[in-house]
Amino acid sequence: VSRRPPSELGRASVRAIELYRSNRSQVALDLSDNTNLRGTPPSAVLAARAADGPSVYARYPSHYGDALKRAAALRFGLEPEEVVTGCGSDDVIECAIRAFAEPGDTLSMLWPSFAMLPYFAKTNGLVPRFVELAGPERGYDLDVDALLEGEPRITYLCSPNNPTGTLVPRASIERVLAEAPGLVILDEAYAEFGGPSYVDRVRESGRLLVVRTLSKAYGLAGARAGYALGARGLVDTIEKARGPYKLSGLAERMGAAALERDGAWVASYVAEVREARERLAAWLRERGHAPLPSEANFFFVRIDDAAGRAAWLRERGLGVRPFTALPGLGDGLRISIGPWSVLEPALALLEAGLGSAEQRAAWGGASLGAGEGSAS
Ligand SMILES: *Cc1c(COP(=O)(O)O)cnc(C)c1O
Repeated sequence: VSRRPPSELGRASVRAIELYRSNRSQVALDLSDNTNLRGTPPSAVLAARAADGPSVYARYPSHYGDALKRAAALRFGLEPEEVVTGCGSDDVIECAIRAFAEPGDTLSMLWPSFAMLPYFAKTNGLVPRFVELAGPERGYDLDVDALLEGEPRITYLCSPNNPTGTLVPRASIERVLAEAPGLVILDEAYAEFGGPSYVDRVRESGRLLVVRTLSKAYGLAGARAGYALGARGLVDTIEKARGPYKLSGLAERMGAAALERDGAWVASYVAEVREARERLAAWLRERGHAPLPSEANFFFVRIDDAAGRAAWLRERGLGVRPFTALPGLGDGLRISIGPWSVLEPALALLEAGLGSAEQRAAWGGASLGAGEGSAS
């Protein structure tokens, strides 16, 4: 009997995957991950403080995140049975993939888009197929025929799309809803910041899963509480593949409190971000940059040597997310947008980072002061 070493015991499809990592070293201002730059909303914080009894920690939570299901149902005018929860929306997406496709099936998606999708496709043995984002002359649309070719078991769209911030045009989404043969995952992680929502279509569609998140506008990325909305039959199927207890009792309480009682806090944050989005777009254009039209809380700025620039900025306390050699876009930086008062102290540094090599070499400014940043 030949006994393989530990690194070769895994499934071949999993061994071939590169472990997901992003640079999360400490920075004074982190504009790399689109989380809430004001922090965590007050009712969620209170719910966490109140959750100190043994009933929260010594006992198991509800099977399927029932309090969050009820809160989300109320917020969107649906039934709790039409909401599925998970350990972040990433988990909901992965469970949906596992529930609706067999290994070898195709997952069809727009590209560039959310990087976790090809990752989850591969961990589940699926074959990701990419349809390139069209340029500005075609309104950042996509070829729906190409997307639906070969009858994909799962079709994924993200609108506003990460990392571009652009909307998928309504006509394309409608066509996908009308013609897709399998599950349609529509990721609305950034819908609070702009663009239409399609939540009102989940019941009639029967194959549409609208994914939302509490990690961006709702300021709860660290709590890991996500949810999605879909017809009952979809939700039941995903919950079977998901299994019980994926949402901690603490996350369930914080997420439910935020959805029930922090709406005004979130709305005022979104208003601030949208105002800052206008100002930052103008600021970038004045400096000769052309951010893609964004409905989200970030800009994608096409620029050469994105990785080098991001590393240079990070050394000086500013985190932005580099992308290299994206089809149709090339290199670029994704820069999160927060309230203007948060962005303003970083603008001089950002200007140098986006500037010429000479400008960077001549940069004499101080690094941004040590802030909270993010732990590794
Ligand atoms: C951040 C994000 C999510 C959700 O992340 P969770 O923290 O797992 O809820 C989902 N989709 C996109 C496109 C995102 O950017």
